[in-house]
Amino acid sequence: MKFAENTTQSAEYLRQAIPLMVKYNIPPNPLNYALWYTYVSNRIPSLNFQIDQTLDTYGTCPTLLGEQMFREHVINDEIANSDQTQNQLIALTQNLHRQAAHAAKNTSDYGAMLDDSLTALNQNDSNHNIEKIINRLAENTLSISESTGLFQKQITDAQTEILALKAELQKTRQDARIDPLTGLYNRRVFNTELEQVAGASKHTNTALIMLDIDHFKKFNDDYGHLMGDKVLQYFGKLLKAECKEPALPVRFGGEEFAILMIGHNEEDAAIFAENLRQKIQAIRIKQKKSGKIISSITASFGISKRTENESAEQLIERADKALYLAKNSGRNQVKIAP
Ligand code: GH3
Ligand code: MG
Ligand code: MG
Repeated sequence: MKFAENTTQSAEYLRQAIPLMVKYNIPPNPLNYALWYTYVSNRIPSLNFQIDQTLDTYGTCPTLLGEQMFREHVINDEIANSDQTQNQLIALTQNLHRQAAHAAKNTSDYGAMLDDSLTALNQNDSNHNIEKIINRLAENTLSISESTGLFQKQITDAQTEILALKAELQKTRQDARIDPLTGLYNRRVFNTELEQVAGASKHTNTALIMLDIDHFKKFNDDYGHLMGDKVLQYFGKLLKAECKEPALPVRFGGEEFAILMIGHNEEDAAIFAENLRQKIQAIRIKQKKSGKIISSITASFGISKRTENESAEQLIERADKALYLAKNSGRNQVKIAP
């Protein structure tokens, strides 16, 4: 068992954990309680070291990092939640296997009985025997049809159960925080992270990059919405590959993306954005059949750096204004908010 303290000891840990969570602006959710409870108990020194370092850098423990540490240190040896589904599937398959073997035995017995009847019919001409053979055939045919019907029903039931399990599995895999098209975190995650960082007592450098694909409406009109979706998917992959922690890329909405760079100033962000702009500009979209290049794509960038006591909304608004300026200055460029 992970948490084996008695009531007095665990109450003491909680008493220590809560003020720390308040101090570092940690959202009071169950995951964070467990994390900070473990922190004050000092039971996993490597976890404490990592948290201390994080607090030093960010003045808080960003939710996504906290969650990652929780997985790594606190629940890494716990049973995966798909185990129950897997056990159900094993039981179901074993049961079907048993039923299939049973049905196969019935069918083979029935085949043997048909063989016997055929031999008897070929050899015999007495009416009495024929009547016996007919009765036996009727009896066995009824019984095999019943057992085949039962097996058919078992297969149908299993099918229904498999579909339900599949849906269940799908549900546990669907993460409400991830945008399904790009695989990036969505705006909700972005808001939570940004608000936490903005609310932390220690002032930390935080830069925000807003990125918007240029003339994407026209791209959709020219090459179709599906092709547009593929471009957005590619952007998801590119941003994931380019943004190393703690740069957090999210799909802000539509063809707009945001990158939160905690611990960085606007100059770092501008270098990063410029590199990304060039990579995007170099993307060549080819026609599958002919291999002919049909289009290139560009994006515009707006950057803001959080000033002291600035709210999350104000930071976004300033990055948006810089983005608007980049668009108005001819697109495919990076602008920093004053
Ligand atoms: P600008 O350079 O000024 O940003 O021009 P724009 O055409 O990119 O901007 P506008 O806001 O006029 O149009 C955005 C387009 O992005 C329109 C919309 O169809 C497209 N879009 C938004 N979300 C998706 C999506 O999920 N898939 C596809 N294929 N297109 C999308
Ligand atoms: Mg656009
Ligand atoms: Mg847009």
